[in-house]
Amino acid sequence: MTAGGGGAGAGCPPRHGRFLQNTSMETETSEDHLKVQKMKKKVLRKQVRAQHTLMRHEGIKCISHATQSLVIANAGLGNGMSRQQLLRILEEYGAMETLLMPPNKPYSFVKYRTTEEANKAFNALNGKEVTLEDCGQKIVLYINFVEKVSLQNAVPTSLPPGLMVIEKIISPEEERRMLESIDWKGDEDTQNAQKTLKHRRVKHFGYEFRYDNNNVDKDKPLPGGLPEICNPFLEKCLKQGYIKHKPDQLTVNQYEPGQGIPPHTDTHSAFEDEIISLSLGAEIVMDFKHPDGHTVAILLPRCSLLVMTGESRYLWTHGITPRKYDVIQASELGHKVRTITADVGDLTLNRRETRTSFTFRKVRRSPCNCIYPSVCDSQKGQQRPVQPSFPQNEMEASKLEQEYVHKVYEEIATHFSSTRHSPWPQIVEFLRSLPAGSIVADIGCGNGKYLGINKDLYMVGCDRSKNLVDICGEKHFQAFVCDALSVPIRSGSCDACISIAVIHHFSTAERRLATIRELARLLRPGGTALIYVWAMEQEYKNQKSKYLKEKNDSKNKDKEMNTGTTQRPLSDQGPVNSSQDSAWSDQLLKDLKDESCGAKPVADLRLPVHTNRTSFHSQDLLVPWHLKGGTKKKEGSVDTVLVPGGSKESQELSPVFHRYYHVFCEGELEAVCRSLDCVRVQKSYYDQGNWCVILEKL
Ligand SMILES: [Zn+2]
Repeated sequence: MTAGGGGAGAGCPPRHGRFLQNTSMETETSEDHLKVQKMKKKVLRKQVRAQHTLMRHEGIKCISHATQSLVIANAGLGNGMSRQQLLRILEEYGAMETLLMPPNKPYSFVKYRTTEEANKAFNALNGKEVTLEDCGQKIVLYINFVEKVSLQNAVPTSLPPGLMVIEKIISPEEERRMLESIDWKGDEDTQNAQKTLKHRRVKHFGYEFRYDNNNVDKDKPLPGGLPEICNPFLEKCLKQGYIKHKPDQLTVNQYEPGQGIPPHTDTHSAFEDEIISLSLGAEIVMDFKHPDGHTVAILLPRCSLLVMTGESRYLWTHGITPRKYDVIQASELGHKVRTITADVGDLTLNRRETRTSFTFRKVRRSPCNCIYPSVCDSQKGQQRPVQPSFPQNEMEASKLEQEYVHKVYEEIATHFSSTRHSPWPQIVEFLRSLPAGSIVADIGCGNGKYLGINKDLYMVGCDRSKNLVDICGEKHFQAFVCDALSVPIRSGSCDACISIAVIHHFSTAERRLATIRELARLLRPGGTALIYVWAMEQEYKNQKSKYLKEKNDSKNKDKEMNTGTTQRPLSDQGPVNSSQDSAWSDQLLKDLKDESCGAKPVADLRLPVHTNRTSFHSQDLLVPWHLKGGTKKKEGSVDTVLVPGGSKESQELSPVFHRYYHVFCEGELEAVCRSLDCVRVQKSYYDQGNWCVILEKL
């Protein structure tokens, strides 16, 4: 229901309920009275509209009874109200516990110490006209009660991965000299490109940056190179390790108050990884945005250096909102670099001054081979032709798994194994809870990281990857090569089984069901199996998974929990099961897929390539693996390698492999398990981005 939809009573404070009834008496004689009534009616209409807007757009529910807390529409940082002014307005009616001013929003929350005080403020301020001190504009406040003062969504408080802001990198004297060195007027005749863009002044050194193709003419360096005056600063950056390579391109931007730059990512193919930018003349707030949509605003203090590498350089966009005031932390201006929203209770507006940035970059000489193919211009187009389709039948499914699971794990085994050392606590707990002497099979054991957890168990592992099984052998674990769809272990011989990060590599619902049936076959009656699969929902109960939070992505980890896979194409087995049960579960799976987690339908049947460390937008997808050194290269297998990168050199530096995944929606794994008569689901839970069940054999 829309808050306040019913007018009287429903969402409005009680006194306005009374007021509504009074409106039927508009026929009263006094002109003045009529005028007052009209005004009041207008206020009420706007107040109710504010309720609707808050509910619809922000999920903030206004309530009809008086509380300590109010939401004040039109008195937000987003429409020019400063914290100081609002505090002055509000404190007239009593002592406040909290004043929350969310950035860029046209409303604020206030909590008074008593309901009485809040009521007083409500009565006095609802519909009241106020002149904004900063710009002289008039606004009208519309006020509603809320249950409590809170922000709907937790605001991210950490900096984008790979981003640093170093304060006071240069002295005010150096700042002055650098600013003076830029001649904005008289050098049309010099070769240094200067443009007055619509929203800012720009000058290029070293190479001209072209705004038509967002790239540089790499064969046409500008004469003169970078200004001499930048050298001591650049030497300092190199010496202190903020950059590894000396930049050869400089763009100077000058922003007057009210000017900005649209959100963008610097073209991957144009520049190398490290991008550094000096803020001169004044501080400014820069907005960083992840493709998932979350935004982090960061204050760049005067004389500070912004360093963008890795994820923050390649995946996030950055931009400056054209406006005359920035929202900043009220307490100390640029004392400590943090996100603007780190303390929402302490925000205010800061008037912008002329700010000049010196952005240094190094022109890239070979195509970009970053690990963010979805946003990489070097890798676009090149991966299309090799992108496989959604499997349409059993044959295609097994072929897909062979190319995009088996062969890939064989190739990446050594590197993969080196990233899989920390066992997951809840899996360890399961293994430790088993009675001594239990016979346990780890189907898809990968590098064997769970085989030695509990020395009192008889554990045997198997995996589809020979290279991973060899690694288990080196660690003196018992492991053999086999397929999870047909495990050469006698039926009913295991006390327990685990299947960790395996079943999500099977590409049809039938095959996923078949692996669970095979797991159940191994168990004796009363035996238990623990299953982990990757979850579509990487954010659950407002908690981001470890996968999304992992920052060190560009180095050597792609994902924390993938272990090996254990399967082989089904050549001699027909359709797995044609029983009613299975048909039902397939339908259920289909329904789940279509509806339950908002996955986009795969329109062109090509499997999308996932960008690491982002949410999933499809249940079936390819996840890149960036191979770093130490691989066991086998003859004849290189052609299976998907290398979206461009040049031979960059391919050899870090080839990219793609693994097929089917990520499970909430309830999906459980539903598949429940479709089997021979097991019962003992426990079903979510653990760090995975859906998990414990089954008991009946
Ligand atoms: Zn790239």
